[in-house]
Amino acid sequence: MIGDRIKQARKASGLSLRALAEKAGVTAMAISKYENNKSTPSSNVLLGIAQALGLKVEYFFRTSKVELHEVEYRKHAKLPKKVLDQIEGDVIEQIERFLDLELFLPANPIESFKLPDKLPHEIEDYEDIESIVNIVRQAWGLGNNPIPDLIDTLEERGIRVFQSKALHDDKFDGFAAKVNGFPVIVVGRDWPGDRQRFTLSHELGHLILNDRLSSHLDAEKAANRFAGAFLVPESEALKELGNTRSWIEPVELHVLKQTYGLSMRAWIYRASDLGILNQSASRKMWDYFRQRNWIKNEPGEQYKPEEPKLFKQLVFHAFGEQLISESKAAELLSWPISVFRNIRNEVSCEQEALNQRY
Ligand SMILES: [Zn+2]
Repeated sequence: MIGDRIKQARKASGLSLRALAEKAGVTAMAISKYENNKSTPSSNVLLGIAQALGLKVEYFFRTSKVELHEVEYRKHAKLPKKVLDQIEGDVIEQIERFLDLELFLPANPIESFKLPDKLPHEIEDYEDIESIVNIVRQAWGLGNNPIPDLIDTLEERGIRVFQSKALHDDKFDGFAAKVNGFPVIVVGRDWPGDRQRFTLSHELGHLILNDRLSSHLDAEKAANRFAGAFLVPESEALKELGNTRSWIEPVELHVLKQTYGLSMRAWIYRASDLGILNQSASRKMWDYFRQRNWIKNEPGEQYKPEEPKLFKQLVFHAFGEQLISESKAAELLSWPISVFRNIRNEVSCEQEALNQRY
């Protein structure tokens, strides 16, 4: 029903009934009637509502019903319902476009997600997570090397990654969920790369560790341990830092951050978890960081953010094979058709450039 779609889009945009009505040039009462399917907007009004919400009119006619399941973030999120609705709506809209695209592709080009064999059924200790990471990395053919593009790595293994601009709260980093049986991970769009990567690995940890943790282990702590280990396996951490350290120079941490895409802070945690820094050495490091206000703002250049590429790639694949029209491609990408043409001619689709120019 169009009404449900209008309501979902309005909630995703964070607008009140009145705010949307004002932008679309109708009354709040009218919007409320549309949303409750008590009256149907004319095509002109619908166009106004679409523009006010930054959507194409086609959005309101899509029928796929997407719901997020096993949404892990509910357990620890303390966000207002309004913000949660906005994040969910924003993500659901992206997932719908993904599913819509798949209808046009002849064979499903997307790997389905499989947990590696040989994972233990029960995890008794945080330390066991190190060997689980090794099993996952071997099964995925990653060896022990740094992972240059984590989003690409996850997308290749059947995990769909979405970014949400609604994720800007400091307390809320991202979440994992299931949609039609496939796993989804959502992270903030405008964050530094090291924060995105830690969240992605943390959520991957939830996907892999859930249901395996002994009841005395804390799921968040376990997912954090997984995240650090997945980005820097134990053997590499020992190779880079040595077995024991009394102090690690911040410049050294910064070089390691750029190599592995793991924040300087997370490196200190990692070195402490692995016993490379003992308790007093790690306290010294934290004091030093705190005094310089480096816990919130790390010094040096930031690590470049990542962005999902699979969806964009598949849209252009379908367009190139004439499986979809130009206007369908633009609709799927949520770009105006003129932008689609420009991007196609300039062969540039860096999200950053897009945001700046259009
Ligand atoms: Zn978590």
